[in-house]
Amino acid sequence: MMATVAALGMCCPGCRTPLDTMECHGCGCSFPDVAGIPDLRLMSDRYLSIDAERAKAERLARIAAETDLAGVARAYYDITDDVDPARCRKFLAHIMAAEARGEAVADALQNCDGPMLELGCGTGGLLVAAARRGWGITGVDIASRWLVVARRRLEDCGVEVQLLAASAETLPWPDGQFATIVADSLIEHLDDPLAALKEWRRLLRPGGRLVLWSPNRLSLAGDPHVRLWGIGFLPRSWADHYSRLRRGGAWVPRTLTASGVARLACEAGFRDVRTSIPCVSDTWVGSVRGMRGRLLKIYQKAQDYSIIKSFLKTLGPLWTLEARA
Ligand SMILES: [Zn+2]
Repeated sequence: MMATVAALGMCCPGCRTPLDTMECHGCGCSFPDVAGIPDLRLMSDRYLSIDAERAKAERLARIAAETDLAGVARAYYDITDDVDPARCRKFLAHIMAAEARGEAVADALQNCDGPMLELGCGTGGLLVAAARRGWGITGVDIASRWLVVARRRLEDCGVEVQLLAASAETLPWPDGQFATIVADSLIEHLDDPLAALKEWRRLLRPGGRLVLWSPNRLSLAGDPHVRLWGIGFLPRSWADHYSRLRRGGAWVPRTLTASGVARLACEAGFRDVRTSIPCVSDTWVGSVRGMRGRLLKIYQKAQDYSIIKSFLKTLGPLWTLEARA
């Protein structure tokens, strides 16, 4: 199923020498296949060392071969110690709802001409929706363990998508390879969002489209990662102290405001930069149950009023950005 790096037109993420095998002739770096997925990372995520990450992906791949998406998602948390049962249930529900969210995101994108790249594709909800629409999408994530879960989802749905482990800040393609780059809830996890935006602009064709979604730093609903109200209103160093105090050292993602990310996108050289609040489709509302579903419905209705819309862009839970390279 997976094409070779040469067929994919890739280059070394470190020195950008074109790759014809998984060994770079330029800098001597070699890149393994992990669980059958090309691994072009220069470093791991902040949660696991690269060796531990690869071992976990291989272990999950053995489990995934014997079960379905729900089975491999459950197995993921069975072999992960640091998630309490309540959060675990929440994360599992999130994984199972990813396809409905992916459909909603694909509806919002409307169309896609030319190659599309999803950064931080996670368990592949949008990849399935995009593949079903016939879009040529590639899925990248820093965690090969999540790509193993994504592959199970893609196989369960009977669609094929190229998957690749890579860092969103150092991507393994030459300039101008993509017509569209999308990233949902990714930018807040990066150390240097400006450098990442410059990298994404480099990868887009002239006029290519960037679409981002992310939690809002100034959300009145609180931070979804560390579950602490008002943390986005504190200076970064205070937020870290506060999180250490209340959550025992949980890393606080660097959420941005809509105006903050727009400024960075302009600085990275993007044009026609627009921020808004995400359009909530009926599919999305229908996929979320309980209190969150009711709140989402209110959020959807509120979007009919421009004054509420501009309030939500500043203090609502999410923003979206669209820009051209
Ligand atoms: Zn190299």
